[in-house]
Amino acid sequence: MIEATARPVPEYLGEVERFSAHNYHPLPVVLDRGEGVWVWDVEGNRYLDMLSAYSALNQGHRHPEIIEAARAQLDRLTLTSRAFHNDQMGPFLAELCEATGFERALPMNTGAEAVETALKTVRKWAYEVKGVPPDQAEIIVCENNFHGRTTTIVGFSSEEQYRSGFGPFTPGFRMVPYGDADALETAIGPNTAGFLVEPLQGEGGVVVPPEGYLRRARALCDEHRVALMADEIQTGLGRTGRLFCSEWEDVRPDLLIVGKALGGGVYPVSAVIADSEFMDVFHPGDHGSTFGGNPLGAAVGRASLRVILDEDLPARADRLGSAFMSRLRGIDSPHIREVRGRGLLIGVVVEDSSGTARPFCEALKERGILAKETHEQVIRFAPPLVIDEETLDFAFEQVRDVLTA
Ligand SMILES: *Cc1c(COP(=O)(O)O)cnc(C)c1O
Repeated sequence: MIEATARPVPEYLGEVERFSAHNYHPLPVVLDRGEGVWVWDVEGNRYLDMLSAYSALNQGHRHPEIIEAARAQLDRLTLTSRAFHNDQMGPFLAELCEATGFERALPMNTGAEAVETALKTVRKWAYEVKGVPPDQAEIIVCENNFHGRTTTIVGFSSEEQYRSGFGPFTPGFRMVPYGDADALETAIGPNTAGFLVEPLQGEGGVVVPPEGYLRRARALCDEHRVALMADEIQTGLGRTGRLFCSEWEDVRPDLLIVGKALGGGVYPVSAVIADSEFMDVFHPGDHGSTFGGNPLGAAVGRASLRVILDEDLPARADRLGSAFMSRLRGIDSPHIREVRGRGLLIGVVVEDSSGTARPFCEALKERGILAKETHEQVIRFAPPLVIDEETLDFAFEQVRDVLTA
């Protein structure tokens, strides 16, 4: 379907080059339509979306129920601010608590804001509940983490490029190697307020920690009264084959951070979910967001969550992901160093003369597959969880051909 108004691709690319800040290096494809697992470019070419907007599209593009909920809400009420109540936020938070088994939820918009909210919660909890002396609270984070792009968050990144030129940074963070529970134990001190961890590092290159790591982290946090914050913005809501990735180790964090797919690919919706012990540190005026909990976002969040549960997307990701991963592991290619992941969050670590995965992503694009390298050498495969076997077979064949060419 070629729109009469479509311009040549180089014009779109040139415009972005000319008018945008150069903080991204996207594949040269210009999309104008999406449905389910498919997207189309301005020339009418169809592609399979194997990135899902970094897992913000677990339900697929324009899921009919989510679009319908958004439409209905657009016709009624979109924004109130938290100065007034709206009729969508309460049910949204109740449904979120019901689905996750926690007592309270605090709605925000982007993932980074939810992470910031969790950090503020845990610091205040440390002072008011745990009894850490004023301004002494420490939060332990992991090497190779990704938690967003605010100044505080990049301040505790181990990625030099994320930090360089953006200091000075917020103090009070301490870094330990990811997957090393002994290092965590050593780092915990009397003023440790919390431990912030991704149950599986997505941006870091789809890094799966050793078996038992999260369980031991949970035990250490219990022993030393440290708040365990699980950043499930990318791994949560079905992506790894469980509703939350922490469930793989039967771990219940103290604070559960969600975002991305909570907005169903339609609208930014994030939240921090925790019990009253933590959430009750907040009093009117302590924290807020103009758009957090707005009726449009809440209606979209309700539909997004309902689709994940009703369609049992975690089980689907588990089944299809295991099959896809074992097929990938069976590819005989000198370029593949490792295939790792859980559910439908899979990383293929490649070795190419150029040292990056990008040439493979460009070749995949030519074959109708959109994927993006992460950490230079890893191709991440994370299709919408609504994908079917046949489409995944198609994806497999393209990936196999590109990696064995
Ligand atoms: C994407 C992501 C974030 C940041 O979310 P934004 O909505 O981009 O601010 C934080 N943590 C993890 C694990 C993520 O994958």
